Amino acid sequence: MKIYADNAATTKMSRTAIDAMLRCMEEEYGNPSSLYTIGQNAREILEKARNEIAAVIHADPREILFTSGGSEADNQAIRSAAELGKKKGRTHIISTAFEHHAVLHTLKRLEQEGFTVTLLDVHEDGLVRPEELEAAIRDDTCLVTVMYANNEIGTIQPIREIGAICRRRGVLFHTDAVQAVGHVPIDVAADQIDLLSASAHKFHGPKGIGFLYAKKGIRLTNLIEGGAQERGKRAGTENVPAIAGMAAALKEAAAHMEENAAHVRPLRDRLIEGLKAIPHSALNGDASRRLPGNVNFCFEGIEGESLLLLLDDRGISASSGSACTSGSLDPSHVLLAIGRVHDVAHGSLRLSLGEDITAEEVDYIVQNVSEVVAYLRSFSPVWRDLVSGKTPFIL
Ligand SMILES: *Cc1c(COP(=O)(O)O)cnc(C)c1O
Repeated sequence: MKIYADNAATTKMSRTAIDAMLRCMEEEYGNPSSLYTIGQNAREILEKARNEIAAVIHADPREILFTSGGSEADNQAIRSAAELGKKKGRTHIISTAFEHHAVLHTLKRLEQEGFTVTLLDVHEDGLVRPEELEAAIRDDTCLVTVMYANNEIGTIQPIREIGAICRRRGVLFHTDAVQAVGHVPIDVAADQIDLLSASAHKFHGPKGIGFLYAKKGIRLTNLIEGGAQERGKRAGTENVPAIAGMAAALKEAAAHMEENAAHVRPLRDRLIEGLKAIPHSALNGDASRRLPGNVNFCFEGIEGESLLLLLDDRGISASSGSACTSGSLDPSHVLLAIGRVHDVAHGSLRLSLGEDITAEEVDYIVQNVSEVVAYLRSFSPVWRDLVSGKTPFIL
């Protein structure tokens, strides 16, 4: 059996998205800035895509800016809010300890430039507490940036409450919604979101394209200078095929969102139940307030890296943390943020299910993870010490 269970890292492109891209590449190859017909055809595709994307998140098309992906959108959103704040003498930013590195590293850079950053603790359930966030707001706070859904443990944050607090306190609110867009319903107006980042390859669109929603009236800072594309806020000839592919993928994801979630959620829960039966294991993050396809476990006494390599031999693609941290031996900053100790955080496994997952595949995953965990423990010195009582079990 071959099972791709790493949809939080990236997704397989949908047929609809590929077809939309091929059409652009083969027929509508014009430059959207050109005045003749093939150029204007490309312009039309671009603006249609913008309309479709805006509709899905309840925004105005003029509030959608195309970027090269989630990372760029995060960078531009945060930089823009920081610059606006600085003009008013407000240089304090609030975020959380378990953000994506596109956010955390941008904040680090801003700290070097004189900004002050408060990183809120995330509780054991993987959720930020709105009252703690409100208590952290100061007179000089210019931005709150809290992710919509976490990329490792899938927990969905109380975005509407946070949005209401920020609006009431006059602070800009950015959310990295890369894991949420196309998977859970998003309404930037109802949620009172000022800035939102998204990436096509997390919802069956192409890689290297994403968008930034910026509420009307928010002046964006350019990361790329040049031509007047994207209302002068992001220079460079637009990647029309990728943009068309992104819009097609998002439209499709939005149209099937409810039925997809209704199919995946019970299978996610079946997987969680199955893995819970493994001794000295624990689910990371709240069991219900999480993305429909996300499962993340810690298994005591093993290393996640060995686990995922052995699962690969058995046809299962999974992750032990985020795509950016695999390959390095540092435990996940997300798991540390929710209070997992180093040794336990090392034995983590993320399985992010696709919409086409079946019960049979879930049972295959449970069977194989159980066998591989037992095998790895059989020669793990850490496990031997736990079993002999030399070190106490944590899970
Ligand atoms: C994948 C991801 C990103 C980065 O998006 P890219 O398009 O790969 O740059 C940012 N934030 C989160 C939460 C992600 O999951």
